[in-house]
Amino acid sequence: MTSEKYSLIIIGGGITGLSCALAWVKNRDPSQYPVLLLEKQPIVGGMVTTFKRKGYSFDTAQLIPDPVELFRYLQIDCELKKYEGYFSRIFLVNSNQVTGINIPSGYNAFMEMLLQRYPAEQKSIRKFFSYSQQMFGELKNLKLEPTLPDLIKLLFVCPKIVKNSSKTFSKYFRSFGFTNPELIEVFDVFAAFSGLPAERAVTMMTVGAMNTSLTGAFRPAQNFIHLPHIMKRKAIELGCQVRTRAKVKKIIIEDGRAAGVQLDNGETLYSEHIITTIDTKVAMHDLVGIDILQQVDPKYAAKAQQVKMSPSAVTISLGIDTGIDLAALGLDCGYNVITTGKGTFEKLFQAFDRGEYLLDQRCFHAAVICPSLTTGGKPTVIIRVVPVPMGNWKELRDNNTALYKEKKEEIADFYIRQVERYLIPDLSKHIVVRDIATPATFERYSGSPTGSNYDMSPYPDNFGLKRLKMRTPIKNLYQPKFSHGLWPSMQAGLQVVDMITGGEIMNGYSRYRTEYT
Ligand SMILES: Cc1cc2nc3c(=O)[nH]c(=O)nc-3n(C[C@H](O)[C@H](O)[C@H](O)COP(=O)(O)OP(=O)(O)OC[C@H]3O[C@@H](n4cnc5c(N)ncnc54)[C@H](O)[C@@H]3O)c2cc1C
Repeated sequence: MTSEKYSLIIIGGGITGLSCALAWVKNRDPSQYPVLLLEKQPIVGGMVTTFKRKGYSFDTAQLIPDPVELFRYLQIDCELKKYEGYFSRIFLVNSNQVTGINIPSGYNAFMEMLLQRYPAEQKSIRKFFSYSQQMFGELKNLKLEPTLPDLIKLLFVCPKIVKNSSKTFSKYFRSFGFTNPELIEVFDVFAAFSGLPAERAVTMMTVGAMNTSLTGAFRPAQNFIHLPHIMKRKAIELGCQVRTRAKVKKIIIEDGRAAGVQLDNGETLYSEHIITTIDTKVAMHDLVGIDILQQVDPKYAAKAQQVKMSPSAVTISLGIDTGIDLAALGLDCGYNVITTGKGTFEKLFQAFDRGEYLLDQRCFHAAVICPSLTTGGKPTVIIRVVPVPMGNWKELRDNNTALYKEKKEEIADFYIRQVERYLIPDLSKHIVVRDIATPATFERYSGSPTGSNYDMSPYPDNFGLKRLKMRTPIKNLYQPKFSHGLWPSMQAGLQVVDMITGGEIMNGYSRYRTEYT
């Protein structure tokens, strides 16, 4: 037991935890308000990491929607590459036919592309873009913890957000009267960027993802692991203490308030405030204890138990020889999506709900990325497959290694065949290294029992004012977990420190903007 009492303990050293640390040291002198970040792994970064196999470097994360403003505020000095030209390509597969659609970077460029490609839909397209941009703009007026007068004001300053807050993205974009099936496919793929099919994702999440990625999609110029390393170095330089290999076993609650944490080595550390950035369900069930939560706030406890977690995934990381010219195939862009369309992503989610994944060449959806075209080094191809349920992956990995290996190779073979067929001819002949991450891999590294890649899913009933609140009913305990992605994770770090400091960063507003500083 240490005698030191911290002002803030942050549990988890992923991008959310590191953003909390940087936001804290920017606003509080750590010699007077000491802050400690605890990470169970030997390195920070969480989901954002880079691993090596036989001289090949593989990144987990691939894209950051426009982070420039947030990097500036958090003093993250990380060299970035911006995807100029087009940031994504969609390949719609129908039997043996493939239709390629390039999504240009820039909100207006994307709109112009759609106007030219679908002239009969011009009116709806213009209306959709103008309305969506205005709705995204309304975010600046949204408070994270609105008071009653704030809520009344919302009706006037955020009318579009209020109107669409419980709509799915599919219902939203169909209300503009789009009829062209291919155009509907394009919007469906955009919803997939927010981790759910258009039929399930809340409108604001997809509109937000669209706005932030179209204004600029970026990635670190070097491998992705540099980002959390740079954040950690800066946090330490500014006075934050960071301990790795420090697993929190329990959050100590005394008289309804969070008082400290207990590590798995038995050590106890006390703090005035505690932020947890680990899997939300694990934090509430295991670190706090659902019975304690129930005593303090049964509604919050019920919501924490019912909230749907995001799906897991399979990532196939391939190291290839130099016999394929990946750039000549147009792969130097953020994301390539190959999909059989016609509601494919929703069908895959229906299977996910049943605890299944489909391997069917008439119904598949995969993203293909070539990070080595940015980072240099030996050529790499990453295939991302979402959603994949946990099912019996963990059980197989723990008890039947041969079958586990067979199952993951089967998925990899299937997707490599599709990529070879529609995107990279002869891919399989050039593979030197293959590494397959399953839901069990994500479970092992992140500690999420569902292997969730994006924590809680952005369903309409868990978003905005309906989300599981960041300020938990346990006094001084906060969970700033946000569904899907690096941009929201950084934003959440700022939001929670803003909340603790009484609005010193952005005055209680939910989205950081330069003019607040
Ligand atoms: C394969 C993959 C690819 C992705 N690609 C993208 C992308 O291209 N763009 C994008 O925007 N987003 C992407 N994401 C999502 C993005 O990486 C996450 O949303 C984001 O990194 C979440 O950060 P976090 O800090 O909230 O959580 P995490 O990264 O999960 O960090 C939580 C940390 O807590 C630690 N921890 C857990 N339990 C304990 C404990 N008991 N005690 C102490 N520490 C603990 C974990 O080790 C971990 O380091 C991807 C995710 C995955 C898995």
